[in-house]
Amino acid sequence: MELTFLGTSAAIPTVRRNVTSVCVQTERESLLVDVGEGTQMQILRGGLRRGRIHRILITHLHGDHFFGLIGLLTSYQLGKREEPLQLIGPPGLAAYIRFMKDLCRTDFGFNLTITELPDVREPRTVLETEHYTVIAAPLKHRLYTLGYRIQERERPGVFDAEKADRLGVPFGPERKELILGRPITLSDGSVVAASEVVGEARPGRSITICTDTAPCPMAVQLARGTDVLVHEATFEPADRRHARRTLHSTSQDAARAAREAGARHLFLSHISSRYLADTSPLLAGLEEIHDSTRLAKDFMQVRLALHGGGIDVGDCRDRPANEVAGKPAQS
Ligand SMILES: [Zn+2]
Ligand SMILES: [Zn+2]
Repeated sequence: MELTFLGTSAAIPTVRRNVTSVCVQTERESLLVDVGEGTQMQILRGGLRRGRIHRILITHLHGDHFFGLIGLLTSYQLGKREEPLQLIGPPGLAAYIRFMKDLCRTDFGFNLTITELPDVREPRTVLETEHYTVIAAPLKHRLYTLGYRIQERERPGVFDAEKADRLGVPFGPERKELILGRPITLSDGSVVAASEVVGEARPGRSITICTDTAPCPMAVQLARGTDVLVHEATFEPADRRHARRTLHSTSQDAARAAREAGARHLFLSHISSRYLADTSPLLAGLEEIHDSTRLAKDFMQVRLALHGGGIDVGDCRDRPANEVAGKPAQS
């Protein structure tokens, strides 16, 4: 499980940061959370596979979070996408897509499902797949805004093959039954319980994304015990009043939310363009609040080891345009 920051600027893009988008890569597919203008280019520059994206979650309908959506859908259409695509987000999303389709007299050849979430009042599961669930929670912003947690499902415990051999468990479907937690009966009539050969179930990994928001209890609840929390930090702590007025957070607010939620690692994103030259005011003093806090940047990639085994932070390829030129887009 990993995540790639495709845009980490607030409101307007800068030469260093594009507007908001995060790509979460699970074992089988990728999800985008928000699609700010220019996200398509960021996907190309980051070397991500556009066709692997099967779901797009939109947090709210401020332009810096979804103005890139219609462009991306149009590119899928031009690229003759066949796989279905699911959009999840606040009410208004379907009307927006319909309006743009009518205006441009276009249609999508792939199956596009739009799921609007009009009445999320507390954290609740809004999507379940075989491998992960998505939980949404309402945040505190100038219009209806959702935070999302992508939660991997629990994995079965480790199978102790040596012990199974000793107990005389044959190779074959019996072992699968045990891994699935069911007891088996051996040919001599003795019963082997799953707990004898299978360890404790291992918790799945999770990534929680809270943007845009003023400090709020729902963000903390959504992020409870999460491995990685991406939280907006539009302003430095000294700009607290301005943050309150605009219903955004300071970096200190984000660190406090992470501490309160028991989030293992915090990444600050949605950074105001006023910090183009110097981001140091954002990080000052934060280590006293939360000891694993980093400032996100475009193309930063975070890999989560299995079962709370820590994270590995690197840079995905920000490929210069001349490297990409002439090569067809990966899909
Ligand atoms: Zn924003
Ligand atoms: Zn906003």
